[in-house]
Order: sequence, then structure tokens, then C-alpha cells
Amino acid sequence: MSDQHLGQIIRGDIVVIGGGTAGIAIVASLLKRAPNLKITVIEPSAQHYYQPAWTLVGGGTHEVKTTVRPMSDVMPRQAKWLQATVTQVAPERRLLTLDNGCNVTYQNLIVCPGLRLAWEKIEGLKATLGKHGVTSNYSYEHAAYTWQLVKDMRSGRAIFTQPANPFKCAGAPQKALYLSCDHWLRQGVLKNVGVEFNLPGAALFGVTDFVPPLMKYIEKYRAQLAFNSNLVKVNGLSQTAWFKVKDAAGGVTLQAKKFDFLHVVPPQVPPDFIRQSSLANAEGWCEVDAHSLQHVRYLDVFALGDVCSTGNAKTAAAVRKQVVVVAENLLALRKQQSFPLKYDGYGACPLTVERGKVILAEFGYAGKLLPTFPLAPTTARRLAWYLKAYFLPWFYWNGMLKGREWLTRTSKVD
Ligand code: FAD
Repeated sequence: MSDQHLGQIIRGDIVVIGGGTAGIAIVASLLKRAPNLKITVIEPSAQHYYQPAWTLVGGGTHEVKTTVRPMSDVMPRQAKWLQATVTQVAPERRLLTLDNGCNVTYQNLIVCPGLRLAWEKIEGLKATLGKHGVTSNYSYEHAAYTWQLVKDMRSGRAIFTQPANPFKCAGAPQKALYLSCDHWLRQGVLKNVGVEFNLPGAALFGVTDFVPPLMKYIEKYRAQLAFNSNLVKVNGLSQTAWFKVKDAAGGVTLQAKKFDFLHVVPPQVPPDFIRQSSLANAEGWCEVDAHSLQHVRYLDVFALGDVCSTGNAKTAAAVRKQVVVVAENLLALRKQQSFPLKYDGYGACPLTVERGKVILAEFGYAGKLLPTFPLAPTTARRLAWYLKAYFLPWFYWNGMLKGREWLTRTSKVD
């Protein structure tokens, strides 16, 4: 902590916690509507990442450096950026504490610090990630290592894991599997690779309509599904992973599995400073109304993105729609008007089932299918690959982060 800031109070009007996907997009959208708004963004990172492309980096079609830009390039000019970390929120006093010793007050707070990847919850993982065949597309530092391992693999055992819900991008653990298998199939080595997908639940995908087309790819790649199997420990040197496996009677046993390649998706938890605050629900997520995205107890607070308690798929696609709802509803609140928009739980998961084809899973609350285009939503398509691999990354940097609200049809309050 730097002494020069100790006790300093910064008086903000609209204050945004986090300059990730949700933070930059909501600031840009608000300023598009009302350029004179006084907005302060608190964000510690000097870099801004486009995380959805990390799957493509691990699949060998994109360079990792295309997924990152300096934060100063994406931060809207009219906003004031405080490069610091929020350590405490006291919504009853409209007060934030930062790691540099400053305090920040606000009239309205927008909470979007994302979630925390809890690598430490898997014993031994931090020490071995990036070595000995252990990798993860969930990390900027390691997504390229996935592709290196995939390219080098000729035979052996490849294990893919998925953590317990909730985690961001529900399809990303299996996207890694499909793109790896597709490469091994094209190289003629898949017959020598034993592929296994370990999931803590009992279903391949949470929205049942998408399970049959995904099962066809699981069969095509001859992957074994290990349901009710949760990764708890890794030893890279001996290339062994341990799983807690639940049987039909509910009994749990610890099973050791040898691997040559291990793709891990870590458990995901709310940020500590949210979990420890009165903004949190019982599980630690920021407790907002599922449709208005306003906090249920602190009415001057909104949240969007991965930190929310809402039951949507935690995706950038969800953020794209949430941004419009929060921008409109917040401005209405400040004019003491009723909320004009409600969020329907839209999220999207472009499932890269092979290089060049995607099943574009788009769905809202309770798994309701919400396709953007008038095409059968469960079919793997080349068009959807171009959307995922080329259009969406371009649109992210040039549209979504600049307040251009394309593809954001939202529901009006009845
Ligand atoms: P983030 O973008 O993670 O940003 C959070 C920001 O808050 C960060 O900049 C962080 O530094 C900052 N922050 C954290 N703590 C604090 C603090 N205490 N104080 C101040 N600032 C703080 N989505 C899709 O739509 N489609 C996909 O295909 C897709 N695939 C994915 C694949 C992978 C491998 C991954 C990892 C994600 C994928 N996603 C996908 C999910 C998508 O990237 C996230 O849902 C989205 O980035 C969430 O935005 P956010 O702003 O809530 O969080």
C-alpha cells in the first residue's frame, strides 16, 4: 500500500468495479447514451483480454497475442480510470476501499469484477500447470501450451476435466476436447489416443436439446464420459490425477488415473471481497434481481457479468445483452422513472465441435432456446464457425467495447 494515498477520499458519481468485458462495455454504452456522465472505473490490470478466443488458441487456429490489448486502449476516454483493486465494499455507506489506501464514494455502483479461478482448490495443480502435459485454456499463459501438447501427441491417454457449476462458458471444457480430437483424427493418431472427459455431474451439457448432437461427436471421437467424477489432485511428475467419484448410492471413492495429457478447468468462485460483503447471496455471488439486474437490497447498485447471482450461462454473450438492460435501467433510476427493460437470461456457447464447425448454443433462463438466426439451433454449421472465429472477436474490440449494441434485442417490461 502506498502511504501517499492512505485515507484519501475520491468522490465518484457512477463507479464501476472491473474493466473486463462487462466493465468496459457498460461504460461505453452509458457514455453513448449520455456523454456527460461522470464515470470512474476501478481496474488493476494493465491488460484487457478477449477470453472466448482462448479455446481457439488451444485449438491451434488463433495466436494468443491477438486476445490481449492494453487496458488504456479499450478504456473509454471520458471515463476516469483508477488502476487499483477494490478490497472492501460497504454498500450501506456507499463506500469502497482500495488496495492503495484510497476510499471511493459513489451515487451508483456497477459491480462487474468477474469471478475468481480457484486453481488452489485442486491440490498440486499450481505447481504443475504448464509442465508435464498439464494445461488449461482458462489461462492466457497456458492456452498456447494446450496446442503444443495436442500437436505433439501421437499416442497415450488424454484426460479433460470440468468443475462443478457454476463456471464461465459452460461449453469450454468440452470445446477443448473436440478441437484436440479433431486434430488427432485428421493426423490419423486418434486411434492411439484414449480420450476421457470427467464431469462432476451426470449430463454432458446443461441444456438437453444440445445433448444428442454433442453425443454424436463424443461417439465420433470415441471419447469415454466419466460422469460424477471431480478432479481434486494432480501430480505432474508421475502424471497422475485423482478424482472423487460418486456412485449411484451416493458413496464417494478416490480414483487415481494416469495421463499423458491433462486439460484442466479449475473450480470458479465469487471474488473474495464480494463474498465477504453484504452484496453477496448465501453462495457469495452479487445478489441482483434476475430481470432488472438491480441489487435486491441496495437499490443504487447494479451488477452484470460473471459475478452475478443470476442463473444464466456466464458468458460474454450474456454480458452483451445485460449491458443494454443495465444502461437503460440505471439511467431510468437516476430520472426516478420505472425500469424499461428486463433481461431474459440469454447466454451463448459456440461449441467448436470440429475445426470449421460450431453448434451455436443460445439459451436463456430455464434452458429456453433463444436462437439469434432463423436456423435449426442444434445443427453444427460452418457459418457459426466464421461467426465464432472471425466475426465475434472483431465485433468485440470494434463494437461491444465501443458501445455498439448489435445483436442485443432485449425484452421490454410489460
Ligand atoms: P472479466 O472479463 O473476467 O473481467 C473482470 C475484470 O474485473 C478483470 O479485468 C479484473 O482484473 C477485474 N477485477 C477483478 N477483481 C477486481 C477487484 N477486486 N477490483 C477491481 N477490479 C477487479 N464467453 C462467450 O460468450 N463465448 C465463449 O465462447 C466463451 N468462451 C470462453 C472460453 C474460455 C476459456 C474462458 C476463460 C471464458 C469464455 N467465455 C466465453 C466467458 C467470458 O469470457 C466471460 O463470461 C466474460 O469475460 C465475463 O465478463 P466479466 O466482465 O464479468 O469478467
